[in-house]
Amino acid sequence: MSTQPYVELTYPFAEPPAHDSYIEVAPGIRWLRFPLPFALNHINLYLLDDGDGWVLVDTGIKSEISYELWRKHFETTLEGRPITRVIGTHFHPDHVGCAEWLVKHWNAEFLTSRTEWLTATMLQSETAINATAFWGEYYRAAGLDDETLRAVATRGENYAERVGQIPRPFTRLADGDQIEIGGRIWHIIIGTGHSPELITLYSAEDRLFISSDQVLPGISPNISVQAPEPYADPLTEFLDSCAKLTALDPETYVLPMHGRPFYRLHERLEELVRHHGERLALTIEACRTPITIVELLPIMFKRKLDFQQTQFAIGEALAHTNHLVVLGDLERIVEPGQPLRFQSSIG
Ligand SMILES: [Zn+2]
Repeated sequence: MSTQPYVELTYPFAEPPAHDSYIEVAPGIRWLRFPLPFALNHINLYLLDDGDGWVLVDTGIKSEISYELWRKHFETTLEGRPITRVIGTHFHPDHVGCAEWLVKHWNAEFLTSRTEWLTATMLQSETAINATAFWGEYYRAAGLDDETLRAVATRGENYAERVGQIPRPFTRLADGDQIEIGGRIWHIIIGTGHSPELITLYSAEDRLFISSDQVLPGISPNISVQAPEPYADPLTEFLDSCAKLTALDPETYVLPMHGRPFYRLHERLEELVRHHGERLALTIEACRTPITIVELLPIMFKRKLDFQQTQFAIGEALAHTNHLVVLGDLERIVEPGQPLRFQSSIG
């Protein structure tokens, strides 16, 4: 994810809620904020009033800190009413890490899209040794040096650690579905590019949009090529989703999972598209002579990256090079024993 300060968005709240408190962002919608152990240090969760109970959208990462906070919210924020449904917007650990624990505690229904559920199920059953070998190849192809590759190897894959089990059974949400919560109709709009089949919820009547990580203020959603699908073009998918979301009302109030709720959705969408356009132009320029993904990083990301950010950045750089290969602007150079390199096809 990267910082990009062009358009002034309107934020109704200057400060987020404290971790053990909430803010009523719109009638019947409580905004919670949980901590995360990453550079991106928080996630927003939304509790939707459903009369006798609550519907929770996203859960926080699996950790003792999250459980501790949830126990406090059970006593206070829920006002004695149960969580009856938990919606997981996508498979990333910060979004569904506490899902199993919450679903069991409340005997709640779990809803997500089929592909997000399958992806989580696949990742949590992958052994660390298998995953490390697999991802090691991917990082080697990107041009990571041996020392960093060894660090990747000792780190292992930690999806299972951060998520536990994704709840089963689940109820499928699909694009175009409508669900009623507390008398309000929410339209399910599937987003793509950041994750395979990400759930967003839109109330046309109240012009409310729970955007998850599809549209974020201040940072651009991570659009990454992952090891299992090295030739994927998630940037096309993301840009298609941005175009689709311009159909939403311009006055929509956006409730994202990172940053603060904001207005000016259309301007933000334009800005995200422009941001990727600039990155694509930079990439073509940098590829006049053949270049590896790791060599591209300081050109695309002009700040120091920690280890996790480097992982994101490699995936993101590949998303841009793969998109340009699909457009015919770059060529992929594959040589035995060498990292992958990219070169502009235009003089
Ligand atoms: Zn995410």
